[in-house]
Amino acid sequence: MTAGLKIKEQVSLAPMTTFRVGGSARYFAEVENESELSEALDFAEAQGLPIFILGGGSNILVSDAGFNGLVIRIAMKGISLMDVPGREDTALVTARAGEDWDEFVEWCVANELAGLECLSGIPGLVGGTPIQNVGAYGQEVSETIVSVRVLDLEDRLVKDIAGSECGFAYRSSIFNTTAKDRYVVLAVTYELRKGGKPAIAYPDLIRVFRDFDPSLAEMRSAVCSIRASKGMMAKQGGADSHSAGSFFKNPVVARDEFEEIERRAALLAVAGEGSPVPHFDVPGGGVKIPAAWLIEKSGFAKGYLKGNAGLSNLHTLALTNRGGASADEVLCLKKEIVERVEELFGVRLVQEPALIGFD
Ligand SMILES: Cc1cc2nc3c(=O)[nH]c(=O)nc-3n(C[C@H](O)[C@H](O)[C@H](O)COP(=O)(O)OP(=O)(O)OC[C@H]3O[C@@H](n4cnc5c(N)ncnc54)[C@H](O)[C@@H]3O)c2cc1C
Repeated sequence: MTAGLKIKEQVSLAPMTTFRVGGSARYFAEVENESELSEALDFAEAQGLPIFILGGGSNILVSDAGFNGLVIRIAMKGISLMDVPGREDTALVTARAGEDWDEFVEWCVANELAGLECLSGIPGLVGGTPIQNVGAYGQEVSETIVSVRVLDLEDRLVKDIAGSECGFAYRSSIFNTTAKDRYVVLAVTYELRKGGKPAIAYPDLIRVFRDFDPSLAEMRSAVCSIRASKGMMAKQGGADSHSAGSFFKNPVVARDEFEEIERRAALLAVAGEGSPVPHFDVPGGGVKIPAAWLIEKSGFAKGYLKGNAGLSNLHTLALTNRGGASADEVLCLKKEIVERVEELFGVRLVQEPALIGFD
């Protein structure tokens, strides 16, 4: 065992995830600072164990067999604020990776710092936000992240990676693609607008704020109530929230593939006259199609059940644990949906959450 750090054995992971699914970690440690992180890594290295970095557990599915290695839960706390030299209108806010994301957003809104307000109500920790470039309601963290402080597991050095080097794209970054599992995020610095106006880019929000300019607090509150109505709110109770949020990414396809989807939809008579396949043109090329539409038109309605797993009653994109679901049941449901959507529309849906402990 290590000097100061407590390393536990056979710790159940399900309660540490929003899915509430999965087995145990063979070893588990919670680290509050960099020296504890270092101790944990030394332990894993000495025992020849794989590691898994756990944040708020809101974007993972743990296997029924659990994880045969060391799970390191990030619990480093602290927020600091700095002015930007020569810029009166913005501030640099650095949050350590273990800060609760939604509490951090609430703090920014209360301090009249604009740039994260539409990301209210998302579960998880600050350190998880650069991993898939968290986004919602017309805002993504890539718009405000100026740097990510990491521990590089290749050479064990602490480094600052500029936002422009993070390879941010829709639900992706170097952290979940080219440099997957290479870095532990220690802290994230966001550049926020002092006294700035909230972003109103999303149709639901444009509707709510048709007649007046909202404050940041009004925007936060509108986003939270829309999220709650879909069972997508941080710390919301009930089986509809036992999920990893949206299980699938919205597919981005080339124009000719989109035309093929339109053709298939017309043949299936699912889009219908006057109601074309919903889509958004993506800057730089490509067409984004709502995965929820593809799933619904493939015959899966909200509340669809398969064993103890099922679609949320409030949101088609959320695969949920209806009570006692196994990871296998969730994956069985996923497989059925992926295969049916591909068969009907020729699009293969890609999942968002990371899978832990599956060989
Ligand atoms: C109800 C609900 C609603 C959601 N809504 C949205 C949404 O609107 N938009 C959106 O983008 N996402 C959404 N999500 C997904 C999820 O909340 C976010 O992706 C969140 O940022 C994940 O953070 P986490 O701390 O929970 O990460 P975890 O689930 O613990 O981990 C996810 C991945 O990130 C890695 N990771 C986490 N922390 C670190 C770290 N410090 N260093 C290195 N790697 C790390 C893990 O190893 C894992 O691979 C939702 C989830 C739920 C349950």
